[in-house]
Order: sequence, then C-alpha cells, then structure tokens
Amino acid sequence: MVRVKGVQDGSIAEELGIVPGTELVSVNGRELADFLDWEFLTADDELVIEARLPDGEAIVYEIERPEGESMGVELEPPTIRRCANRCEFCFIEGLPKGLRKPLYVRDDDYRLSFAYGNFATLSNLKDRDIARILEYRLSPLYISVHATPWEARKVLLNNPRVPNIVEQLTKLAEGGIQFHGQMVIVPGLNDGAVLEQSFTDLWALGDAVLSVAIVPVGLTQFSHLYTGKSMDRENASALLDTVGRWEARALEERGHRWVYGSDELYLLSERPLPDAEFYGEFPQIENGVGSVAALRSRVQEGLETLPRLEGRRIGVVTGKSMAPLMPELLEQLTQATGARFELIPMENSLFGPTTTTAGLLVGADIRRALIDRHDLDLALIPAECINDNGVFLDDEPFITVREELSMPVYPSYDFIDVLVQEGEPAEAAA
Ligand code: SF4
Repeated sequence: MVRVKGVQDGSIAEELGIVPGTELVSVNGRELADFLDWEFLTADDELVIEARLPDGEAIVYEIERPEGESMGVELEPPTIRRCANRCEFCFIEGLPKGLRKPLYVRDDDYRLSFAYGNFATLSNLKDRDIARILEYRLSPLYISVHATPWEARKVLLNNPRVPNIVEQLTKLAEGGIQFHGQMVIVPGLNDGAVLEQSFTDLWALGDAVLSVAIVPVGLTQFSHLYTGKSMDRENASALLDTVGRWEARALEERGHRWVYGSDELYLLSERPLPDAEFYGEFPQIENGVGSVAALRSRVQEGLETLPRLEGRRIGVVTGKSMAPLMPELLEQLTQATGARFELIPMENSLFGPTTTTAGLLVGADIRRALIDRHDLDLALIPAECINDNGVFLDDEPFITVREELSMPVYPSYDFIDVLVQEGEPAEAAA
C-alpha cells in the first residue's frame, strides 16, 4: 500500500475523488509496495485501481487513462532502506553530534539510486529486489562498488555479510541494466592490486558499466571509525596513473574514457585538472568529477553577459581546496566587469581542517568570514552549502546569517548567475 500526499488540480486523480490520505492498495491486481510499483504499474492505459479513502471506504476505480496524461498523484515519501554496512570512511559516521536528524540517515536504497542518482552498495539487495530491478528495468543505477574482490569489499564495508558484488553486477548486466560505479579509495585497502582486479572485473561487464569514478577517502575530524591511512599526494598520483592506463585502454577500445579520477584526486596530486571536453557528458559531475572544469567553462561562456561593475568590491567565500583555483577565474571576472574581487578562503569550523570542500562550509563559517567586512559591496558564497530549505549544515538558516551581515550576500553556483543581475550588460566586456 502507498499513501497519497497530494493531488494535482484538474488531474485524473482529482476527477476520481482521490484525496490526500487515500491508500492506494493495488493496480491491475498487483499490490503496491512503494512508489516504483505505482509509477510502473500505472504506465498501462487500462487501469483497475483498488483504494481506501481516508474515511475507510474501499473503492475500485476502473479507468482508461488518456495516453501521456499522468495520474496527478504525489505519494508520501517511501520508507528509506537503511544501510547495513559500517564503512570506516562513512561520511555520516564523521558528522559531529547535534545536527539535524535526517543528516544521520544512512540510506542504501536501490530505488533512490534509480530515482535520484544516490549511490547504493547493493549490500541489502535480496533476490526479489534484483527481480524487480530487472522487471522494471531500473537503469541506469548508481552503485558504490568500492572493490570487486569479495574479501576486500567485506573489509571496506566493514560488513562480513556483504554479497558477492561481481555476481550481483553480472545478473544486472545480463538483464540489460547499466550503471555508473564509484570507488572510494582507502590507501592500502582497495588501491594497488585490488583496484586493478576491480577494473578488470568491471571491464568484463562491457557496456553495462557506463562510467567509474575514483574518489579519494575523505575524512572529518569526527571520523572515529577510521583506522586507515589518509590520502596523500603520492597515493593520489599513483591512483591517477592507474586511472590513466585504463582510461587510455577504454578510449582505444571503446571510444570513451570510462573511468575518471575525481577533482579532489587531481588537487591532492597537484596535477592540472582536465578541461571540459575531457569529461564528455559529465557522467559523474554530482560526484565531484569534472565540477571544476564545468565551472570554468560556465564562467568562460558567461563573461560576455556580465555588466560593468567598476568600483564594486566583491567578496568570494570558498573552501580551502578550491582556493588555489580561484584567482584565475576571479581575474577573468575582473577583466569582464571592472569590479575588484577578493577571495576569502575559509577553514571548516564544524568538520575541522581536513574538510576543505566549499559545499560543506557552514553558516558559522560564512558569518565569521563576513561579519567584520564593512568594506564589501557584495559577497558570494557557495550555493551548494545551503539545502533546498535554505539551511546550512549547522542548522543556521541562510536568511538569519544574511541579516547579520552588512553587505548583500548571495549563494552562487558559478558567479555568473549572480553577477549578471547586478547591472546592465556592458557593450564590450572582455
Ligand atoms: S555504505 Fe558505508 S559509507 Fe555508505 S552509508 Fe553505509 S556505512 Fe556509510
């Protein structure tokens, strides 16, 4: 059974008399377990829907759904499948105490992997789940592979009961399911020979593997479970060498790169980051693979749309890892607008100095960066550090922080998004 949260005005569901709180029990004789059943079973045009209204009345709707018209039902969020692993490097285990409860939820849910691109390890997958993935053709999935050798994977996931992922992936591949994989690399555990074997196993799955991201382990000062080594320049460089070999093979034999090192890996190894063409369709940009290249190209493309902002003094708050890459971008923005940009790199006060990502800065960091800056006309902060409800990770609402500051402050993804609205476009920007 799934419960209705909302009904769109003028929709089929409204015409039928479905209201919030209605329980949808079955479609065409098949019981509904979750949103996937509803989405896929209502794809038919002829539907027999068993439901129970909030007052307890059982009702059966027989309808012919006009082609292409949605039912107009929003369902209550599903019960999320929790993770059964206890990875030493788990970011959630590395969160300080006292944050919002939802931040501590360790989801490992193939349904969210399909619906939203969340990475899942498949550790909690039952045979019936695999059957369902195949029947509904849930593809592509996003899978945290980490390592294919079984023993190494048990250690990495800190879970002796993890299934054999090669068998799982083979079943999915044979059923026509494709996936993007990621491997978080812990030095000494899944680099070297384990990584080589993992690439070999994934390569053998052919077209089923759309891309593989190699991500260095990231720890906070609260990562209390972690007993491994941290990633350093030498490790990161060795990883990029291995990635480079497989990338070259993939380009030659399959015509695309297939495997990518994350931006963080390039930064750690102090190697130059590739440009946008390198990443093709940016298959794993949400995973920090190609974000810098995408930012550079968005800035480049947006320069001529910017207004002249002579005399304006603009503060740009960022994390420590992005700071060395910023001067080049800010110089371009200066040329295009005439404004004076000042980079304000901040250490993360909540997670500690090892957490250098701009998108994890918290409200307290933004306040600290800007509270005494009465000389700035405008400040830009990373948009990624505020969630959809306008709240930082430390629970500080953005509007509260903004009201304490003396200059206008805007969350920005690529500078252009904010600066373009700051004045009239110049006739001939640089
Ligand atoms: S799979 Fe590992 S990293 Fe992911 S949520 Fe579970 S314990 Fe954390």
